[in-house]
Amino acid sequence: MKFSVDYLIVGGGIAGLSLAHYLEKEQEDFIIVNQNLPGAATKVSAGIINPVTGQRFVFSWKYEELKSEFLLFYHALEEKFNQKFIDEIQQIQVLESADEQNAWLARSADPLYKPYFSEDVADVSSHFYLSHKSLTAVLKSLYLIRTDSLLTQLERYFIQAGKYECTAFDYSDLVRNKFQLSWKGIEIRKAIVFAEGFRIASNPFFNWLPVVPLKGECLHVEIPDLNHFHSIFKSDYALVPLLEENVFWCGSNFYLQETELNVTENEKRNQLEFIQKNLRHPFQLKGHFFGIRPASRDRRPIIGAHPSDPRLIVFNGLGTKGLSLAPYCSQFLLNWLVREQPIPSDLGIHRFLAKGIIPPAI
Ligand SMILES: Cc1cc2nc3c(=O)[nH]c(=O)nc-3n(C[C@H](O)[C@H](O)[C@H](O)COP(=O)(O)OP(=O)(O)OC[C@H]3O[C@@H](n4cnc5c(N)ncnc54)[C@H](O)[C@@H]3O)c2cc1C
Repeated sequence: MKFSVDYLIVGGGIAGLSLAHYLEKEQEDFIIVNQNLPGAATKVSAGIINPVTGQRFVFSWKYEELKSEFLLFYHALEEKFNQKFIDEIQQIQVLESADEQNAWLARSADPLYKPYFSEDVADVSSHFYLSHKSLTAVLKSLYLIRTDSLLTQLERYFIQAGKYECTAFDYSDLVRNKFQLSWKGIEIRKAIVFAEGFRIASNPFFNWLPVVPLKGECLHVEIPDLNHFHSIFKSDYALVPLLEENVFWCGSNFYLQETELNVTENEKRNQLEFIQKNLRHPFQLKGHFFGIRPASRDRRPIIGAHPSDPRLIVFNGLGTKGLSLAPYCSQFLLNWLVREQPIPSDLGIHRFLAKGIIPPAI
């Protein structure tokens, strides 16, 4: 175990691990402290990066900028581990309501959106039951991240490099005064970055930030007859092909402010009914999981230093889109930490101070 480091990162979800990757590229010195605690979000996520969102199909926030960065990030990791982590994929979208159908038609006529909307209506009737009222359309150029294998590889890699401690970070183990910052005898020369996902609520330095828990549950189901079906099927829920042959991810719901650390029979029933209602093929339930998304109230990530102690840094608020946001935010955080370049105001922690939120004294 090391006796001093420049940076200590708490949390090994996509936030903590992507920052670690950027720090490593700059040959910065760091250690990650992570325990896979119940509710961790990245591990259970579907891994979808969607260029458009919502019922009106508008572009995701800063999509093109995010895309340049997340492609670099995931491709660099593919090269590093000689393993596939990112795939381009299409989404078969069921347009349930007249509003959705109108929004779709309007967008697909817009030259900016055209590259993402297919004019062909997919014929998926051999696999799915589609009600006579619903239309299907195809959304192109989404990405699917293999989050489980990505996390496993990164964890293994950093453990072997002596830069990863599999343990819970307890705040009472932190020594923090004007002259010293250390954790369990490890001196932290520059800063601690807290990337704890929804558990920020228990962080004594940053629990005043407006991050709310957004719980989601998902199922893994085996569908042997969909062996060669490599699209996302999206209606009330999504069915997403996982890397493992024949296994699909089904989900997810959004329970705001729900922090019970368990799966529920109710949500399992809803998702099983969704599959039964839509799928023509037999399937088998393989697993039922939950995770809690760390959602900021203004739906933007949060990065930056505590106003009273610049050695304490937060990286949070990735909400429902962590897979595309994390590389983009990590790059700004790195440039700020290493090159003192400013953090854009729409990502920075100071936007909350400007709104009158006063952090308690620490
Ligand atoms: C069901 C579901 C589906 C989703 N689907 C998608 C999707 O398709 N696309 C997308 O972009 N996003 C999706 N998301 C959202 C995405 O998962 C999150 O935005 C992202 O994972 C948040 O990453 P994070 O690193 O901030 O938090 P987390 O992934 O939760 O990581 C935090 C880590 O810190 C650890 N930790 C916390 N406190 C401590 C401590 N004191 N000591 C040690 N370790 C600690 C936790 O155990 C965890 O490992 C989904 C989320 C859910 C729940």
